[in-house]
Amino acid sequence: MDGIERFAGREIAFEFNPHPAPTEYPNSAACYVREDKAAILLRAGAQISAQDILHELLHIQRYWMEHAPQLEPLLNHDSNWDVTGRIENVLEHLVIVPREANFGFAPRPQWDEVARREWGAYPWPDNTEQFSRSLGSHLGWLTCEIVTDPQIRTLAKECLVKDGAFESAENLRQAVKRYLANKPKALLFVLRAVGLPRAEFQLAYIDIKRGKKRCAKLPLL
Ligand SMILES: [Zn+2]
Repeated sequence: MDGIERFAGREIAFEFNPHPAPTEYPNSAACYVREDKAAILLRAGAQISAQDILHELLHIQRYWMEHAPQLEPLLNHDSNWDVTGRIENVLEHLVIVPREANFGFAPRPQWDEVARREWGAYPWPDNTEQFSRSLGSHLGWLTCEIVTDPQIRTLAKECLVKDGAFESAENLRQAVKRYLANKPKALLFVLRAVGLPRAEFQLAYIDIKRGKKRCAKLPLL
């Protein structure tokens, strides 16, 4: 944490999370990372572990120190914020969750628990909208990369095959793994796989030393 703050020339804040708690893991920590500030968000009265804090710091490190871009909707496509948040989380977790091992931590059980519940709920009768199913399938299959129980991956594959989505999801997984160090490209593969137009999004790069954010178009493949 000191290293990140020294690099940035500013402190990371701890704040109470003002948003309504999610139903899954209502006490979990979160963070936001901007060009002028980053904060780790905690729930009042919640137990918090060193690994929870580490996880949020690794998010901040990626955006501030490694200059990983964040996917954002263009101004007139505000409704895409939910989608960009989900895509960001999944791609970033593929990078930072394995890094937790460098600090002596095993993966937190929540990744397996959430994945087991989500794939266990297949065929998702309440989710009939095609885009939403496609996004969930593709992101869910990517998330299986940080799942430790191989049975979950087997179950996920069976669901995707039944849904006719396995080939596309597997192609995306391979492309994202190949381009994990090239986030613009990895993002582009995700947008293409789920049928989101590249022109509705941008990449936001944080220059924390100058306190500035720079936005760029997504590259062509
Ligand atoms: Zn996270």
